[in-house]
Amino acid sequence: MSTVSITCTKKQIDDLLQRYPMAERRRTPAYAHWQLKLSDCVITAYESGKVVFQGEGANFHASSYQNTPNQLTDKIASITYPQCGSDEVGTGDYFGPVCVCAAYVDEEHANWLKTLGIQDSKAMKDDTILTIGNQLIERLPYSLLILDNQTYNRIHDQYNMVAIKSKLHNQAFVHLKHKLNELPKHIIIDQFVKKESYYRYLKQEREVIQGIHFETKAENKYMAVAAASVIARFAFLKAFAAMCEKYDFTFLKGASTKVDQNIADFVRMHGKEALYQVAKLHFANTKKAGI
Ligand code: MG
Repeated sequence: MSTVSITCTKKQIDDLLQRYPMAERRRTPAYAHWQLKLSDCVITAYESGKVVFQGEGANFHASSYQNTPNQLTDKIASITYPQCGSDEVGTGDYFGPVCVCAAYVDEEHANWLKTLGIQDSKAMKDDTILTIGNQLIERLPYSLLILDNQTYNRIHDQYNMVAIKSKLHNQAFVHLKHKLNELPKHIIIDQFVKKESYYRYLKQEREVIQGIHFETKAENKYMAVAAASVIARFAFLKAFAAMCEKYDFTFLKGASTKVDQNIADFVRMHGKEALYQVAKLHFANTKKAGI
């Protein structure tokens, strides 16, 4: 259990309280403004301006304030609900699948997600995502696509990464639409390609979801995109762990030079052919590892 203390202005303390509207409010300790109990952290704001975060999630909840004290109000602004959004994970990792998720979030979901401290999965610790991922999957309507490495390598000969992503995002929204009968008016993609190119890549698709809003860094601005990114990361981490277990091997995430050595070690243990099942072979790492 960790404890983190930061100093805040009164306005920041008020904003902090607003950020967790669904959290349990505890009896106020002496010399404190308030105390909140979150699923993974207790936050106490003192009259002195000291704010103490205690518990497993202490670092995580405190970190977003430490870095941006002036933006203490939600990084994720209040935007019209319901909304749905999509994001992908794994496209920058040599090992492991590509996971794309589209999620639906209404206002009630959004308030609840705020209490969990949901934000862009890249800003969240993997441990936290593994702890809360199941809750998101149980409560939010979503569609998740996992493109395994074997399939990825096969279709990559034909389509580039952007084309593959476009098709997966569209499919995720199509599945979500069928689940919900109808998609909400606000559909957001964390932009990875220009809108025109996205729709060009979908020319052959049977069903194409129109009226999507494309925005970069959308995972910081739209709760539905943030939730989708967390579910996608959760699926990626699960698949990654299963892969490590299956091959009794510690795969590294990312695509750094450390991964090159990791590839060589894996091939020594399991042979070249097995790489097809676990890696994105077109990455430069394959060559750099001397495979
Ligand atoms: Mg993204």
